[in-house]
Amino acid sequence: MVTEPVVSLAGIARTYGRGDNVVHALRGVDLEIAEGEMVAVMGPSGSGKSTLMNILGCLDRPSAGRYLLDGQDVAGVSKRDLSAIRLRRLGFIFQSFHLLPRTSALENVELPLVYAGVPKQERRARAMAALNRVGLEDRQHHTSAELSGGQQQRVAIARALVQRPRLVLADEPTGNLDSRTSLEVMATLQTLNRDGATLVIVTHESDIAKYASRVLVCRDGRIRKDERRTPQDAAADLAVWHDEEQDPAEEEERIT
Ligand code: ADP
Ligand code: MG
Repeated sequence: MVTEPVVSLAGIARTYGRGDNVVHALRGVDLEIAEGEMVAVMGPSGSGKSTLMNILGCLDRPSAGRYLLDGQDVAGVSKRDLSAIRLRRLGFIFQSFHLLPRTSALENVELPLVYAGVPKQERRARAMAALNRVGLEDRQHHTSAELSGGQQQRVAIARALVQRPRLVLADEPTGNLDSRTSLEVMATLQTLNRDGATLVIVTHESDIAKYASRVLVCRDGRIRKDERRTPQDAAADLAVWHDEEQDPAEEEERIT
């Protein structure tokens, strides 16, 4: 049996404006993403990464081309059905976390389930399970202000995953984090990916992209490079980082 790709894009174009002011944000993108892939999207500013993510996330429609999500053509779908697709089949992670500030971690993670009309008891159980998966079960009652940046992003990851989406989209998820915290977040994303989540992550840092199993490079609205490779292990890199922090002298010895 051949499994259907989660994403299938054919000839996707997106133009903004018209006449002299027309901007070709995407100029014909063909792309298939299979279940279980962890894809990094790189490329200079203005190359079309966010436009591509907005289309993948059903937040925007292409000007031309065909998008099959899980085999379903989303071009002809009404606005209302698109938001249902977003809610049930897609998870979003943002650079600035987008958590409700005076709300507990648990309630933030529960929110998509509230919108989906899941009964309270089941909501709690599923939100707790999602917090568990990102290693934050002991922070369930903390508000966002009481959490570090990395913890906030892990709450946001739990929220993106609580519906068990088919595809998780992250636009610069480590953009607001220091290098070590970025590593923690990438380790969390790799764990979820090994559990079967399909991920697309925009980043302009090759230090982040090296944890993906496939790297796309956009340029001028096209995908110019598409490489699969063995990802580096973020948890292993994090362990080394811990050692170095505990004993910087030892690290110096190794270098000299
Ligand atoms: P990236 O995320 O790689 O920086 P974007 O997808 O945001 O690139 O943008 C691609 C191109 O489309 C850029 O030239 C940008 O200025 C243009 N663009 C993006 N959004 C809009 C918009 N809403 N209206 C007009 N032009 C836009
Ligand atoms: Mg962008």
